[in-house]
Amino acid sequence: MSGIEVGDEDDPFEQQRENIENPMKRLFLVYGAKYKGSLIVGIVASIFARLLDLVPPILLGFALDAVIRQDKSFAAIWFVPDSVIPGDPQGQLLLTVVLIAGAFFVGALFHWVRNWGFNGFAQNIQHDVRTDTYDNMQRLNMDFFADKQTGEMMSILSNDVNRLERFLNDGMNSMFRLSVMVLGIAAILFYYNWQLALVALLPVPLIALFTYVFIQIIQPKYAEVRSTVGKTNSRLENNLGGIKVIKSSNTEEYESDRVEEVSQDYFDANWDAIGTRIKFFPGLRVLAGIGFVATFLAGGLWVLEAEGQAPWIFTEPLSTGEFVTFILLTQRFIWPMAQFGQIINMYQRARASSERIFGLMDEPSRIEEDPAAKDLDVTAGAVEYENVDFGYDDEQILSDITFEADSGETVALVGPTGAGKSTVLKLLLRMYDVDDGEIRIDGQDVRDVRMSSVRRAIGYVGQESYLFYGTVEENIAYGSFDASREEVIEAAKMAEAHDFIENLPDGYETEVGERGVKLSGGQRQRIAIARAILKDPEILVLDEATSDVDTETEMLIQRSLDDLSEDRTTFAIAHRLSTIKDADRILVLEDGEIVERGTHDELLAQDGLYAHLWGVQAGEIDQLPEEFIERASRRQARTRVDD
Ligand code: ADP
Repeated sequence: MSGIEVGDEDDPFEQQRENIENPMKRLFLVYGAKYKGSLIVGIVASIFARLLDLVPPILLGFALDAVIRQDKSFAAIWFVPDSVIPGDPQGQLLLTVVLIAGAFFVGALFHWVRNWGFNGFAQNIQHDVRTDTYDNMQRLNMDFFADKQTGEMMSILSNDVNRLERFLNDGMNSMFRLSVMVLGIAAILFYYNWQLALVALLPVPLIALFTYVFIQIIQPKYAEVRSTVGKTNSRLENNLGGIKVIKSSNTEEYESDRVEEVSQDYFDANWDAIGTRIKFFPGLRVLAGIGFVATFLAGGLWVLEAEGQAPWIFTEPLSTGEFVTFILLTQRFIWPMAQFGQIINMYQRARASSERIFGLMDEPSRIEEDPAAKDLDVTAGAVEYENVDFGYDDEQILSDITFEADSGETVALVGPTGAGKSTVLKLLLRMYDVDDGEIRIDGQDVRDVRMSSVRRAIGYVGQESYLFYGTVEENIAYGSFDASREEVIEAAKMAEAHDFIENLPDGYETEVGERGVKLSGGQRQRIAIARAILKDPEILVLDEATSDVDTETEMLIQRSLDDLSEDRTTFAIAHRLSTIKDADRILVLEDGEIVERGTHDELLAQDGLYAHLWGVQAGEIDQLPEEFIERASRRQARTRVDD
């Protein structure tokens, strides 16, 4: 793949990003406004610090004239009263030294305050932007994460956010410093000799034009660079996550090629931007140099003329001291002009990053919460599904799902893989919203109440139990943060987890998760069940909660799950039908529809799909009707996600 487009269709945030009109304006107005105090302190200190920086060269000029002409040149400085200016050259030299030392000392103080202000401004904005972006990301619905865009998101949350600092701190700091330098010096130059000042300022319009052209060229290139960084991260993250599959399928070479491809795209985009950038800075230097050379030439000729005379078209007088100051100041003036290019460069990069950040921040969630929504009022924990239709995208997954779960009942969902069982329960948890129909808990539509209150009322134990890096105790108490140690142990005992936890190196204090002790699938599952027990929810959702444990452990857990679900409404999905045999109601799903419903005995009597599935699990494969096997293989062929 070469010549990558910015609008690549696999760039997930592209669409959102296109709507971002003016990211830097938004950054300053929305985030900067809160910290304008720090910024103002920084700017004011920066102005003073820079003005003080100008003091030494000016004093040098005065001292030179004072020594050469033996007069009171210092009288021209407004803040030095006539009475303190000594008449002799030694005294004047001493005065110069004292003034310069004073300027350095006070200047240093201002530099310190300036850095405090700018750093505070940058750090605070960066922090707020990161947390806001993260908060929005967390609100996005599950599709977003399922699409494996986590590498891209990591890249935005870390690289792009960090990149803002470079501009907000270094860039802004330099911008004010340089503005003060340039404006201050220009003012002084004009005050001294407006004619020579014009010569010195000759390159300014050229630099402005040159910079404008640079921005036009570099802007899309930086956007491209940021986008390829995101893609590279996504690929790397994807491969690290799937390293087991890569190794076992012997596809290292294929993956190396794919990584090389995205890395090459990044290289190309970056090289393209670098190519433009490295031509820009020398160009600026040449333009800036022209001003310096012109000033030196004109001023030099001027001074060579008899004192008080002016060459060519010039009419103003110029003394040797003035010329020295002029040259010193012009030199200090020209390079800052060239450095503006650096700031513009930083600005452009920050702009590209802000665009990506706001793109993620503005990514809408498919699930909207009414800001005025009230908390769910759980009285009995009764759940009703009424004519529910749903599809993840255009394809309909569930159609016309209608059933009730009375308070305290256990409803089991069974059926082949891909039938839509998990989807039915995801809708209850409001991971997604129904396309049509209604889901009510104690008579309240889940869309009309606050999402957090719905999730608080429901305990969920899924097929995969994720453990956070932390202790076993913290993992069990996750979400029930104020539970006591005794309560945690009690929950672990009910989940048949207490014994194995006691055997871990540090018991409940053992670190688990990513970097901690590795637990087996069954152990993780039992911790997840303990978590749900501790939460003590009115409604319990068990999505193949015991799929990862051996038969013996399953029996033990099943016992505790039975206790747990006794007086609360429970939904259970299980492949092993023996675990849900005693459910009050069994719903059999096929292709997103409820095809059979009843108790175990009723369903067996119907001799339909359930009876056949039961037969398979009882090992009666030989006795299955041919038609059942055919339907099963057709279904397998249709299933998209292999879980
Ligand atoms: P079950 O739990 O019965 O195995 P699921 O509810 O997980 O079935 O899946 C039902 C159907 O929805 C399957 O065809 C699956 O491919 C599809 N599906 C599941 N999750 C998603 C998703 N996030 N995006 C798109 N399709 C999905």
